[in-house]
Amino acid sequence: MMCGDEYRESLRRLKPEVYYLGEKIESVADHPAFIPHVNSVALTYDLARAPEFEELLTTKSHLTGEKINFFTHVHHSCHDLVRKVKSLRALGQQTGSCFARCVGHDALNAIYSVTYDLGKKNGTEYHQRLVNLLKEVQAKDLFLSGAMTDPKGDRSLSPSQQKDPDQHVHIVARKQDGIVVRGAKAHITGAVNAHGHLVMPTTSLKEADQDFAVCCYVPIDTPGVIHIFGRQTNDDRKCSGCLIDQGNPEYGIVGGEALIVFEDVFVPWEHVFMCGEYDFAFDLVERFATAHRQNYGGCKTGLADVLTGATYALAEVQGTVGASHVRDKLVEMVHLAETLYCCSIACSCQGYALPAGNFMADPLLANVTKLNVTRHVYELARLAQDIAGGMLATMPSESDWKNTSVGKYVDKYLKGVADVPAETRMRLLRLIEGMTCGTALVESMHGAGSPQAQKIMLMRRANWEHKKRLAQKLSGTGESRHD
Ligand code: SF4
Ligand code: FE
Repeated sequence: MMCGDEYRESLRRLKPEVYYLGEKIESVADHPAFIPHVNSVALTYDLARAPEFEELLTTKSHLTGEKINFFTHVHHSCHDLVRKVKSLRALGQQTGSCFARCVGHDALNAIYSVTYDLGKKNGTEYHQRLVNLLKEVQAKDLFLSGAMTDPKGDRSLSPSQQKDPDQHVHIVARKQDGIVVRGAKAHITGAVNAHGHLVMPTTSLKEADQDFAVCCYVPIDTPGVIHIFGRQTNDDRKCSGCLIDQGNPEYGIVGGEALIVFEDVFVPWEHVFMCGEYDFAFDLVERFATAHRQNYGGCKTGLADVLTGATYALAEVQGTVGASHVRDKLVEMVHLAETLYCCSIACSCQGYALPAGNFMADPLLANVTKLNVTRHVYELARLAQDIAGGMLATMPSESDWKNTSVGKYVDKYLKGVADVPAETRMRLLRLIEGMTCGTALVESMHGAGSPQAQKIMLMRRANWEHKKRLAQKLSGTGESRHD
């Protein structure tokens, strides 16, 4: 297992094509725009080697029996699923941000199961290829991104109906030694600081969409793979030299997302796990989505622990913590956070074994988990901002606080209770600002799929006939009144 510094060194050895603010980036591991995201992932390596986190963050490979980082593991019990949620909460508490490794982890689990099913039906070699990659990922402790979401173009049209077929990643050539793919994947977490990408289809597909049914592994510095990093709220602050104003300078306010362009990228057969089998695309999408939506009551609860702690501490500094309405709002924050956690734990406990032997969370409950995150995280932010007060949006900068002319005024008038320095209040306000404004909130809405995607799954998974029969029986109505 790597440590954090070995992970940073491994990034320096790679030469991916990365752009940010119109410039080509030489070293992701050393650029201030990316350092917080790199630090966050590095912590998943370091903590796996720390005695107090070892039990949560390491396990035994079912393939080799070797000790591995939990983020490279294929789950083989409900206990594993619960452990994932607990480890995400623990890492959320330590980083207050996104640590990105979960996406590729979930993709590995989903592809593991679907390639097995594909082999059973069609006699394909995909599963053995995935097992070979998994062994490499476990042995080298690699961090892979999970690249599912296509740009999608006109949402009213299927992939094959688009005027521009590149709006979904597709196969442009099948060769003796592999395939060539073209297209793009949008808002991919950890894309610039991963070792490689697991590319998956984004939606269920029909026969006409065969060329879009492609799942493969692409190392990050493969020729033709271009990463364009997204802007985030207040990202200028990362490069301004101000630490306090960043709120969470060590780990950032949210994960780092990028648009990944695949410009005629060659993928050798050994890294191809689906090539035209459109009828398996839905299973892959649903299993990946289930695994990732299961997570959100884990990591977001860890973040909510940090946010609630910051809000409580700020209320103490501002002298409001004794007010009954403030205490009531703090309790409300705990209730919201623990409700999210309950959902993640529940969908994990109700998990089940797939034919490949690996375990998947309950899809209905996993989708409920994520749908709650699209609401509760906003409510948590609203409560934190309510308690924090207007200074959250009007506070002078760290530079003014350090200025020899006006710094003394900022220091004097930003003070709360007499025995706590203004700096404490400023740091807490900036942390809350980062966690409750802009990009961080949008991530809770759309990360792991937008709310409507969860509602579609609820519509599919809710047993409507059973619910109707229950009502018909009790009301003496309908065909099944004697059931
Ligand atoms: Fe992991 Fe997604 Fe949470 Fe980031 S947002 S920590 S990738 S589950
Ligand atoms: Fe996410």
